[in-house]
Amino acid sequence: MHDDPGHSARAPKAENISWSDGAVGREGRERLLGQRGCVLWFTGLSGSGKSTIAARVEASLAASGVHCYVLDGDNLRHGLNRDLGFTSEDREENIRRMGEVAALFADAGIVTLVTAISPFEAGRRAARAAVKSGAFLEIHLDVALDVCKERDPKGLYQKVERGEIRGFTGVDSPYEQPQNADLRLDTATLDIDACAEAILDAMQVRGYLARER
Ligand code: ADP
Repeated sequence: MHDDPGHSARAPKAENISWSDGAVGREGRERLLGQRGCVLWFTGLSGSGKSTIAARVEASLAASGVHCYVLDGDNLRHGLNRDLGFTSEDREENIRRMGEVAALFADAGIVTLVTAISPFEAGRRAARAAVKSGAFLEIHLDVALDVCKERDPKGLYQKVERGEIRGFTGVDSPYEQPQNADLRLDTATLDIDACAEAILDAMQVRGYLARER
């Protein structure tokens, strides 16, 4: 099921809808802002470092005048995704919505950092496909589960241990290893600055940074 992004309880329903082009367009917006819109998609287990590294990249970009926005999986569950839980279907829908919102932000010309476990390959692939310009960087924070458990920044693994949380990714819910990651960073061996630097370098190489840093 996870290999087929088209197979969804939320398959398209509406008919008689058409696409309306605005007056400006992505390139016009990018010219106005003096930057390129893109999506930096952080995937990895809870505690792998997604929020920490995204914040470091965001700070660095903002310091050089680049408009960024972090779409955090937990934050979006307070609003847009508040009706979703942690079943496989809800996780898929959570990521589908995050991917669509990220694509809109990128289309608006914003460097959009998405931090979400995003455990399924199909969801990550669909998020990439949603970005029409193709400016999408999948960053796999690849670190052993034991390291994440040791860090346990939110105390969630302890709750899992006590049986207070079920269906936790990496423990008793699957995490499909990324097949299409653009960057794989082991946060057990690379420190936060080195990870941020690798991401900024990858953006530079791909032309996502319009100006010299
Ligand atoms: P996630 O968002 O993936 O759940 P967090 O960023 O909330 O993970 O937590 C990662 C924890 O690991 C933080 O407490 C952070 O300080 C720590 N940490 C240690 N080394 C690194 C590293 N190299 N990269 C990212 N985080 C690290």
